[in-house]
Amino acid sequence: MVILSMKAANIFDLTGKVALVTGASSGLGARFAQVLAANGAKVALVARRKDRIEALKAKIEAAGGVATAIEGDVTDRASMSRAFDAAEKAFGTVTILVNNAGVAHSTRALDITEEEYRRVVGTNLDAVFFTAQEGARRMLAANARGAIVNTASVLALNVSKGTAAYAIAKAGVVQATKALALELAFKGVRVNAIAPGWFDTEINHDFLNSDIGQNMKRDIPMGRFGNAGDLDGALLLLASDAGAYMTGATVVVDGGQIVAIKG
Ligand code: NAD
Repeated sequence: MVILSMKAANIFDLTGKVALVTGASSGLGARFAQVLAANGAKVALVARRKDRIEALKAKIEAAGGVATAIEGDVTDRASMSRAFDAAEKAFGTVTILVNNAGVAHSTRALDITEEEYRRVVGTNLDAVFFTAQEGARRMLAANARGAIVNTASVLALNVSKGTAAYAIAKAGVVQATKALALELAFKGVRVNAIAPGWFDTEINHDFLNSDIGQNMKRDIPMGRFGNAGDLDGALLLLASDAGAYMTGATVVVDGGQIVAIKG
């Protein structure tokens, strides 16, 4: 006899959930939004590039999903508060928040300017915390259970040259994930993170396709960068009831990259 509640399609089902994805205009965020929508969530696409998220909304709708495009800048708390208002107005309380927006840099630690450092940490860490705070406050006010998924990186756990501000911010995301998880666990809001290895997106396309990037690929045990769909499973696990007893975790999805010692 098939017990329906144990079927993957049911365990991972997001029907009735409302998701908000930041940085949904490209790369991993656009993919996250589509995966959530494909599994039943209504998705608020938040980014600065309105034309991009309008196009993604049309793509999701053409595939039978439900989405709305909302202009927002994660480094501007008032703008994010308005984005949550707009998402609530469209679909109701956001119960899945995917904190995905991020920026990169390639400046060595002794050369990075204060301005660039603050841009990277402000977007990749401060904005993740304040957006999670905003989302969680609204979940609690609505008496709703929820899941927050933060995007960290393997650079949260190890470092490479020229990534200091990024690595510092992403390590902070791992700790913010744990700190928020601890304080919100009893209130029904789970907070977890995904730490991807290298995926070819706008953030690093030139770098990954340079000689250095191609050499790095050879050091990845699986011998390749991540493909678009390689984060789908981790995202759905953390966003759905399949991960109901998971909180404070960082799930590494990197083809084995960080377990390998070079040499
Ligand atoms: P991407 O450049 O395609 O996507 C990042 C998105 O964030 C862009 O759409 C960008 O416009 C948006 N964004 C940046 N600043 C913003 C702001 N202030 N307000 C709103 N949106 C803003 O790159 P990606 O690879 O899809 O990156 C997504 C996330 O994944 C980032 O947090 C990144 O650090 C992380 N990540 C990426 C990789 C990788 O190899 N691609 C690896 C580990 C972690």
